[in-house]
Amino acid sequence: MTQSEAPPHHHAPVAAPGNSNAHDHGDGGDLGLILTVLTFLGLAVAMVDAFIMPIPQQLLLAGLGLAYLAGGAPPALAATRDLWHDHVLNIDLLMVTAALAAAAVGSAMEGAVLLALFSLSGTLEHRAMGRARRAVEALMQLRPETALLRTAEGVREVPVDSLRPGDRVILRPGARVPVDGKIVEGEGTLDESTITGESEPQKKGPGASVHEACVNLDAILTIEVTRALADSTVARMIRLVTEAQAAKAPSERFSDWFGQRYTVAVLAGSVLAFFGFRAWGLETGDALYRAAVLLVAASPCAVVISVPAAILSALSAAARGGVLFKGGAALEELAEVRVFAFDKTGTLTTGRAEVTDLLPLEGDEDALLALLAGVEAHSEHPIAAAILRAAETRGIMPAEVSGVRALPSEGIMGRDAAGDLWAGNARMAARMGAEVDGRLDAMHAGDQTVVLLGRGARLLGAVTVADAIRDSARRGVEALAAQGVARVVMMTGDRPEVAARIGASLGFAAADIEAGLLPEDKVRLVDRLDRDLGGRGKVAFVGDGVNDAAALARADVGVAMGVAGSEVALQAADVALMADDLTRLADAHRLARRAARVIRQNLIFALGAMAVLVIGGLFFELPLPLAVVGHEGGTLLVVLNGLRLLADPIRRA
Ligand code: ADP
Ligand code: MG
Repeated sequence: MTQSEAPPHHHAPVAAPGNSNAHDHGDGGDLGLILTVLTFLGLAVAMVDAFIMPIPQQLLLAGLGLAYLAGGAPPALAATRDLWHDHVLNIDLLMVTAALAAAAVGSAMEGAVLLALFSLSGTLEHRAMGRARRAVEALMQLRPETALLRTAEGVREVPVDSLRPGDRVILRPGARVPVDGKIVEGEGTLDESTITGESEPQKKGPGASVHEACVNLDAILTIEVTRALADSTVARMIRLVTEAQAAKAPSERFSDWFGQRYTVAVLAGSVLAFFGFRAWGLETGDALYRAAVLLVAASPCAVVISVPAAILSALSAAARGGVLFKGGAALEELAEVRVFAFDKTGTLTTGRAEVTDLLPLEGDEDALLALLAGVEAHSEHPIAAAILRAAETRGIMPAEVSGVRALPSEGIMGRDAAGDLWAGNARMAARMGAEVDGRLDAMHAGDQTVVLLGRGARLLGAVTVADAIRDSARRGVEALAAQGVARVVMMTGDRPEVAARIGASLGFAAADIEAGLLPEDKVRLVDRLDRDLGGRGKVAFVGDGVNDAAALARADVGVAMGVAGSEVALQAADVALMADDLTRLADAHRLARRAARVIRQNLIFALGAMAVLVIGGLFFELPLPLAVVGHEGGTLLVVLNGLRLLADPIRRA
């Protein structure tokens, strides 16, 4: 582990973030909880002696010993480990030193209180950290072990990890989908809440895709496997969340940095203070006592813990609502986003487009569709899916096409028996030297996407494709505007006419609709939006396609449609909307802002409380018990304040 990943503090029971071994978390959590309880038990014994009635000396010693051991051993170990491996002085070291110093000046019980509360806040922090991860781990448990494979000889039960794309599996009612696939036979409702957070069951029929770990509620379905287990939804989500743990938020880095610098300063300061108090004329015992008070008062536990407590709570609340953040940094940046740019096809629209019109210029409609489907069979674009479906409903076999190359935001080209073949928009036609003549005027007069088919410079025909606006798009865009987002912009590779129609019906200003874009144009526009903001706020780009990947990566916050989106887009993005629901984006934006507020509150409170305690310790003879309660009370408060975010789940539709 490198030093930048290693938190300088670590509440002992907490496994370091970035530690990808999930099991460490669970075990550490339970052990941590047990140790916290034991520490409190020991402390309770000492408190009986102090406040209720004297107890035998041996019992008191046993109680204190238990508290010091159970509460002190884990931080002592963590402190040694950090010191040894990373040469870092951490907060655990401060706490152990403070508790020992307290014992040395005859305030062993205060030392025990310190350790007990320190242990408790560590356990709480750990709980928060584990939650986002557990949400995903719970999914793993939902994975069925075996699936019913349909073969030529009949149905056979096979292990899920032996399934390969193209295999067909039978899904009985009540069974979970074993890997990502699409329905080839049967129609039924699926409960997808585990993956998308969508509580309403979804009706699905042939052609619809189904995701691993969703439940088939009522029908017998035959599913064709599209992704092997290792590439299926759950594995992808786990990868996202693992990446998330490695990426630290800026304020997290601040608190880490602060914690580390500060630990050294506090240790040195306490030693200096001891000599200072001595020089001032205090007895050795008194000077030691007040140095110990300072050590406790000045320990930055609350500062260091305040940020992760808030961020992890927010990340886990978001994950429950189907919004996955790749780390705290994305969360903090989303809070500052003032401009949202949306891709159109597949993002604002469903991407489940339909062929509405056919215009063959040579041959008949069926021949046009056969050639078109032959090229598009190699494309992942929503347009391609629409064309393939149209061919299938008409019972047309796609032509044999090979040597295919896709040009993002233009189209696709390949070769059939008769020669070169291409499909795409006007830009593609121009590239091929084909003239889009008057015969296509009627089609272009409409406001639908037009796909041209050509052979070199010869135009063979065209089809129009209509795509439906996503239900959530209008509400999502409206909600963002209502939340005070300065600007929403549409960026599409489609024709201006289509962009204008969809943009207008979603409430985009005409000046904020950009059409006919290439992938690099989207990047350039994101850059321009960023410059326009002049540093006051950030730009988010929301997209789904291969053609959006560069813009997703360039934007301060890239948001990918988690299910409909392409793998490249998911890779490039910082946030994935697993439900493909744009109202969740607005919810996530709100949650991110709340988290930012909580972090600010926590930091201000933690720094303020520390300042008060230090001043009290230096100038006002603050008693040790008060320093302990003030210090650890503050730490607990910031943890609890952070945990409040857990209760702000992203709205479920
Ligand atoms: P958006 O930016 O709205 O997601 P794209 O950039 O993916 O849209 O596509 C822009 C345009 O490029 C489409 O409207 C279509 O005209 C053309 N195009 C892209 N891919 C294909 C394809 N596979 N077949 C035909 N046309 C395509
Ligand atoms: Mg798109």
